[in-house]
Amino acid sequence: MNELITMTAADLSAAVAAGEVSAAEVTAAHLDRIASVDERVRAFLHVAADDALARAREIDRDRAAGEPLGPLAGVPVAVKDLFTTVGMPTTCGSKILQGWRPPYESTITRRLRDAGAILIGKTNMDEFAMGSSTENSGYGPSRNPWDLAKVPGGSSGGSAAAVAAYEAPLALGTDTGGSIRQPAAVCGIVGTKPTYGGSSRYGVVAFASSLDTPGPFGRTVLDTALLHEAMSGYDPMDSTSIDAPAPPVVEAARHGDVSGMRIGVVTEFSGDGYQPGVMARFTEAVELLESLGAKVTEISCPHFRYALPAYYLIAPSEVSSNLARFDGMRYGLRAERPGGGSAEEVMALSRAAGFGPEVKRRIMLGTYALSSGYYDAYYGKAQQVRTLVIRDFDAAFGQVDVLVSPVTPTTAFPIGERADDPMAMYLADLCTIPTDLAGNAAIAVPCGLADEDGLPAGLQVMAPPLADDRLYRVAAAVEAAFTDRWGHPLLAEAKGLV
Ligand code: GLN
Repeated sequence: MNELITMTAADLSAAVAAGEVSAAEVTAAHLDRIASVDERVRAFLHVAADDALARAREIDRDRAAGEPLGPLAGVPVAVKDLFTTVGMPTTCGSKILQGWRPPYESTITRRLRDAGAILIGKTNMDEFAMGSSTENSGYGPSRNPWDLAKVPGGSSGGSAAAVAAYEAPLALGTDTGGSIRQPAAVCGIVGTKPTYGGSSRYGVVAFASSLDTPGPFGRTVLDTALLHEAMSGYDPMDSTSIDAPAPPVVEAARHGDVSGMRIGVVTEFSGDGYQPGVMARFTEAVELLESLGAKVTEISCPHFRYALPAYYLIAPSEVSSNLARFDGMRYGLRAERPGGGSAEEVMALSRAAGFGPEVKRRIMLGTYALSSGYYDAYYGKAQQVRTLVIRDFDAAFGQVDVLVSPVTPTTAFPIGERADDPMAMYLADLCTIPTDLAGNAAIAVPCGLADEDGLPAGLQVMAPPLADDRLYRVAAAVEAAFTDRWGHPLLAEAKGLV
């Protein structure tokens, strides 16, 4: 294996800046890796080989000319296929947007390009980010590099699989109910859901606008922080963007230190349905944090158990509104019967042909939940529950600095196992959804392999809004301790492939 593909983003950007390796060599090494493994992993929907190499050569020219280089100069980044990118298609994993080429660039991908990153391609995802396995993609599932018969999680499963399979050191995802943290956990990598409003939604195709949060994936805590920092910050193009300094996540990632930190273990996230091997690794991680000087207590957040049902009313309600724009008129697919037909007919046929079953289910659920006579009972109640979840967090963060839990109740499950059982699929996000409803920040960091199947388990750390740096302090401490134990920076030596 070419050693460039196993290097961290931090080392790659330093090596490019020092002239030890060219951005073109780094990019070519990753394109070669994609060419050799992606037929099996299927992380990418589009590989931007020519553009990536052209941009890499530009960076090499800038360096030769003594121009200043950005913090991610020469580092390949894989992009979830719902960020609009000029020069690349954007499908959101949906047939309805097949072939769509957006006319504008998302704020985050523009910032990354400006930081010198090489956007290497667009990654597979559950259609419009609805799902936990990538099986809802209109283009077939991605596979977990640890075991190709298992799902890589979702909805940002392609991004997580690409990073775990060494096809890119960094990737972008979005987290609406867990779609960064859950795939990160089951692929054995790091993934962060930043504070809502901390990362711009401009040019991120909307799923549930009050929840959607773009965030980073990496194989190390520091790499993840580097991408987090590069993508963050106020954006006047996003009305919910927070106009405050971004939390100092890179600084925190360099100083993993939990001594004196107050850590609360969420008591609701254990028991029936939690895989013993996942709980064993979680318990060990908590003991480890205690041995490093953290003060660990148990904290009950009684309304977290209602978060999942509330989410499945709020998110679909927003879907029913946001996805109304896909009407066969303005974007992508248009289906009509020979000889034309009315506008209503074109809309109905295009939506029937273009959307997959999960997206249709959500549109119908949301339309029902918002309909007159039911609004108060469903959408209104769910919003009240959302407030109770926020209050649980407020009360908890009055006592502790961060909360911890497993990321997801089980390790990666077999492709096909939950595809026809929406409820079983939804349960993958049991532990991640409260953070989305409240808008605060959380990270998934690997904490070992479950005994039953040898697959990765993740520790979730949750922090108050705009305290994203705390996540990285804890995650870096966990990573450092495990590096000592395993002699490898992370768990990402995906056994199926490396
Ligand atoms: N799996 C959850 C859902 O299907 C969360 C998805 C997400 O975070 N984008 O809605």
